Amino acid sequence: MGFVLIVDFGGQYAHLIARRIRELGVYSELLSASSDLETILDFAGRSQGVVLSGGPLSVTEGRHDEIAKSLLRLGKPLLGICYGHQLLAKVLGGSVGRSPAPEFGPTKVELSPDELFEGIPAKVTVWMSHNDAVLEAPPGAKVLARTRGSPVAAMRYGAHWSVQWHPEVSHTQYGLQMYDNWLRAIGARRDWRPENMIEELTEMVRREIGGSLAVSAVSGGVDSTVASLIVKRAIGERLVPILIDHGLHPAGEPELSIALLENVGLKPLVIKAEEEFFSALKGIREPEEKRRAFGRLYARLLEDQAERLGAEFLVQGTIYPDVIESGGRVGASVIKTHHNVAGMPKQLRFKVVEPLKWFYKDEVRAIGRKLGVPEEILRRQPVPGPALAVRVEGEVTRERVELVRRADAIVREEIEGAGIGGLWQYFAVLTSSKATGVKGDERAYGHVIAIRAVESVDAMTASIARLPWEVLERIAARITGEVPGVTRVVYDITSKPPATVEWE
Ligand code: GLN
Repeated sequence: MGFVLIVDFGGQYAHLIARRIRELGVYSELLSASSDLETILDFAGRSQGVVLSGGPLSVTEGRHDEIAKSLLRLGKPLLGICYGHQLLAKVLGGSVGRSPAPEFGPTKVELSPDELFEGIPAKVTVWMSHNDAVLEAPPGAKVLARTRGSPVAAMRYGAHWSVQWHPEVSHTQYGLQMYDNWLRAIGARRDWRPENMIEELTEMVRREIGGSLAVSAVSGGVDSTVASLIVKRAIGERLVPILIDHGLHPAGEPELSIALLENVGLKPLVIKAEEEFFSALKGIREPEEKRRAFGRLYARLLEDQAERLGAEFLVQGTIYPDVIESGGRVGASVIKTHHNVAGMPKQLRFKVVEPLKWFYKDEVRAIGRKLGVPEEILRRQPVPGPALAVRVEGEVTRERVELVRRADAIVREEIEGAGIGGLWQYFAVLTSSKATGVKGDERAYGHVIAIRAVESVDAMTASIARLPWEVLERIAARITGEVPGVTRVVYDITSKPPATVEWE
């Protein structure tokens, strides 16, 4: 199988590089730069090429020179991105220092003709995010692009290339084309199809679980459904799907999820635990603390069931991006704790099985499709683990959850009713702000609801949805009219980054 290794220096977009390369039909894996040099060289030796990712450090600290030098000696073709670009330039004898004008976000760049830029116009907008820059190219390197903040924004050195920008983010024009060109230049085999992995995954799970029993936490979302189906293929009725009814679901849930799950042969055991969740969340205002409190109780309830049933394993629908954002890898900073990864206590009474841990959302969908999961499930918008608990700013109370649930239902109805498709997520948030209003000639001082609607292909980056004004106006009118105590509705116009999709 074709294989590209990505050495991860802790860059936020490192996984996105892997995703792009897989999208182009080549299997890729990440290895943290803090792994043993021996392991890195072993993986690199089996690869067809190595990408050096971005990262938060400065190459002037010299922490990764040894890795870069060893990889150069190994002779595999390298592609440096951002920090990786700076690192290559440094160890090859160029100079790297503080950029004369650090660049963040869209940046115009002019490209010199090169194999790497084939089929790409000479002037494109790329996504930058850096403080340092390559100030002087190494001797023997050809400079392929310059910007105001990056005197050497791209270079070629023999069979190696590197760029200061992030071709993996969708905001870089022709970014995918660049990876495509690189894969062609290094002659990588394009034989990666996630849906062909089903047999292998099933076999892995069968070996892992052996003759034991497993429970799976299902929500009716894509990931937990597909993960459970794979485990079901592996161990049949020895899998017990469990749905925890925490009372924080959006309107119409969990009934709809239960029906969808039954349809695909995953009839869940439903555990009602509303009371427990509200009391566990009582008094907590801090978002990360909320996620942890939710995660702790969720884990405990599952453990109790696992114990009662005599199950040794817990199946979770963890996917790659969950691992990234929880700071699962050394060097990446923790952005948000996901309840199914870092939010769970470290010491669990069962072993966790995560068959989708190395797949991206679109790959999970491809696997699901092959397994016969209906589009209705595959296209569902993601709901965070703690559900509406993280869509209520400040304390989570029944009243506040009910408020946001009603507002959220209106947002869904209006957007779906208007036939607006292709959105990644759309929902309402109950903010902790209060605002003055006038209702029936009387002063009203009430809640502020924020509407969030975004487009994204992978949740790593997202842009705001340009909803028609009529739809937004109708949403505002209905929420202020139908949800008691709301005096104002605002629309969140922030992309990710810098904002995350969820508010908490
Ligand atoms: N930390 C380095 C800089 O600021 C690299 C940044 C990156 O890889 N995104 O220039």
